[in-house]
Amino acid sequence: MHFISKLPDVGTTIFTVMSKLAHQEGAINLAQGFPGFDSDPKLQQLVTKAMSDGYNQYAPMPGVYGLREQIANKINTLYDSDYHPESEVTVTAGATQAIYTIVSAFIRPRDEVIVLKPAYDCYEPAVTVNGGAIVPIQLKAPLYKVNWSAVERAITPKTKMLFINTPHNPTGTILDKEDMMELSRILKGTDIILLSDEVYEHIVFDGKKHESVARYPELRARSFITASFGKTFHNTGWKMGYTVAPKALMEEFQKVHQFNVFSVHHPSQKAFATYLKEPEHYLRLNDFFQQKRDLFLDLIKDSRFKVTPAAGTYFQMLDYSEITQKEDVDFAKRLTKDHKVASIPTSVFNLHQEDFKMLRFCFAKDDETLKKAATILCNI
Ligand code: PMP
Ligand code: GLN
Repeated sequence: MHFISKLPDVGTTIFTVMSKLAHQEGAINLAQGFPGFDSDPKLQQLVTKAMSDGYNQYAPMPGVYGLREQIANKINTLYDSDYHPESEVTVTAGATQAIYTIVSAFIRPRDEVIVLKPAYDCYEPAVTVNGGAIVPIQLKAPLYKVNWSAVERAITPKTKMLFINTPHNPTGTILDKEDMMELSRILKGTDIILLSDEVYEHIVFDGKKHESVARYPELRARSFITASFGKTFHNTGWKMGYTVAPKALMEEFQKVHQFNVFSVHHPSQKAFATYLKEPEHYLRLNDFFQQKRDLFLDLIKDSRFKVTPAAGTYFQMLDYSEITQKEDVDFAKRLTKDHKVASIPTSVFNLHQEDFKMLRFCFAKDDETLKKAATILCNI
C-alpha cells in the first residue's frame, strides 16, 4: 500500500511513551496526568443506576438536556455569563474530542492558527490534519508569561484561531485579569475564534480566581471553552467533557460533532446531571489539590531541583539544571530507569524542542506515593 502520511512528524505521545516506560521499569508514575485515586463512589453509583434504569441507547446529539442545564448553570453562576443550555452547550467525549471537532469545523487549508508554546499535545495535529498552518509563539521558562505584543504581531489576515490554556498544562501557570484584558484588546475587531482550553478550571491555588473567557464579553462572543469531567471528577478513563460557545459558533460545531461521534456515553451523562447539582463536588477541588501541591513542594524542598510553585493544574515543573545538563528526554528516561520515578520531559511541547531543563511531575497521587517519590528525588 502506498500512501502519504498526513502527520509524518507525529509519533506516539510522550504520555504513552513515559507511562509505558514507568510500567516496564516498575517506577512510580508521576508522568502521565491522571489521578491516583478513584472518583466518588456516589458518582459511580449514579452511573450504575442510570444503566439499570435503561439509559443505554443513544443520548440526544448535543447531550442530555438536564446535564446541559447543569453545565450552563455552573458556568453562568461562576463566571457571570449567560450561556443557554439549548443552543450553546454540547457534551463531548472529553476535551480532546471537543478540540478536534472545533478545529475541523472551522479550519480550512492554509488558515493560520496561533499556538502558545509549550502547548498541550493534541492541539497542533488537529490543525495540521485539517490543512491549517501553525503559528507558534514560544513562552520562556521559568515564568512562561505571555508576551501579548508578540501575539499581536503574529496576527495576519489569515489568522482564524488562537489557542489559550489556563490553568496551563504543562507549566502550571495561570492567566490573570491583565492577560485577559490584553487579549480582549488584541482580538477586538477581528474574526479570530478563540479556543480556550479550561480543563483545569477547578484546580487553581493560593486563593486566586480562574479567569475564564466566559467572564469577558469581548472574548466570550468569539470563544469555545473546553472542559473535562475527567480532570474534575477523577475519572479520566470515562472520556467525558463539554464545550460551550455562542449559538452561531455552536451550530457549526454540531454540524461536525453529529458526524464524528453523534453523541456520547448516555449513563455517564445522566449521572453527571445529578452530581453537578451539588457545587461542592467541584468547588472543593482547589483545596484538595493545593494540599497535594504543598505536600509535594515541602517534601522536595531540600532536593537540588529548583521550583516555581504551580499556580494551578495538578502538575509541578521542576528545574533540574543544578543536577545535570543532560537533555530532558534523556534525563527523564534515566530517572525512570535508574531511580524509578517517571516524569514528563517538557521540551516536547516547545518550539524546536527547546530544552529549558524542566520536567513535569503529576502530584495527583496519594500521599504515600508522593512521599516515596520525593525521597528518591531528594537523593538525586
Ligand atoms: N487539554 C489539556 C490541557 C489537558 O491536559 C487534557 C488532558 N489531560 C486535555 C485537554 C484532554 O482532556 P480529556 O481527557 O477530557 O480529553
Ligand atoms: N492530559 C494528560 C497529561 O497531560 C494525558 C492525557 C493523555 O495521555 N492523552 O498528562
